[in-house]
Amino acid sequence: MNNQFEFSPCPLCNSFEFDLRYTAQDLIAQTPGIYSVVRCSACGLSRTQPRPLESCISNFYPSNYGPYAKRKLVVDEKKYRSNSSTWILVLKEVLKGMRRSLGVHPQNTLPIVKTSPVKLLDYGCASGGYLNNLDRAKYQLIGVDFSADALDDAKKLGLTVFCEPVAFSHFEPGSFDIITAWMVLEHLYDPIGTLRKLRHWLAEDGFIMISVPDASALQRKIFRGLSYDNHVPNHLIHFDTKSIKRLMNVAGFKVVEVRWQPNSRSLLLSVRNVLDACHLGRVSKTYVNIMDTRLGSLAAYFLGFVLALIRQSARIEIIAKKS
Ligand SMILES: [Zn+2]
Repeated sequence: MNNQFEFSPCPLCNSFEFDLRYTAQDLIAQTPGIYSVVRCSACGLSRTQPRPLESCISNFYPSNYGPYAKRKLVVDEKKYRSNSSTWILVLKEVLKGMRRSLGVHPQNTLPIVKTSPVKLLDYGCASGGYLNNLDRAKYQLIGVDFSADALDDAKKLGLTVFCEPVAFSHFEPGSFDIITAWMVLEHLYDPIGTLRKLRHWLAEDGFIMISVPDASALQRKIFRGLSYDNHVPNHLIHFDTKSIKRLMNVAGFKVVEVRWQPNSRSLLLSVRNVLDACHLGRVSKTYVNIMDTRLGSLAAYFLGFVLALIRQSARIEIIAKKS
């Protein structure tokens, strides 16, 4: 692997001026190197410096990279949903009721569109895990991704998918009622260019819905280089609510809603990073095992709900329309 790196301007305002926030390493794929997370002096958007050249970024996405592989995650909130003992079911209903009454939406809840079927494009669909959970009678589903290997898995699920960068030629302007991009923009070299392309594909009254890590969350400020969501060098950009809104505006969108995902993953995995960094291997292993139990998964679910309520889950969703 012969990787080359570059110092890049701010993807939002093109300024080269920055202030250092902290340094970080690749704690996920464990590739060597120390990176800086810097804040643009002109507009406040944070980015990773230096960043790998676009020509070698694929070296940082191993075949077992999370969204591409169906590997087991350390904190599996699906376990909570599949749990069927009576008291768990009662607690589930109580939590659901609390969530509804307090206006916290389940993760990736789509806006309501009155066309039938709803034409939906998932940009950055990876192996199709998200699309495969949607109702195919209600939605006409299309996926786009950069990874041909991941798209092969999506095709096995019977999904219609296209590989970037050639996907552009497949769609007419205004083809989609909803476009989603889950945890994608922070990986892109030209997020504004990509958003403009998605805008071109979106119907005039359609919705775009994206999610990104929230770099302004308190846990990011506490854990700094050990925060799970740093994910350097794969995360080239570190958005907060202000900068993502501004980026969407520049690309021709008007943000209609910001949601904090009911998600405790970032916090729980950051704690694991701290334990590992302190060489507390046995404590870390015990911690992971506890989080992997039914009770641990339930606690993780409840914590995610509380974090969303106080806007500190470190994962945000943006719903926007064409401006
Ligand atoms: Zn800037």
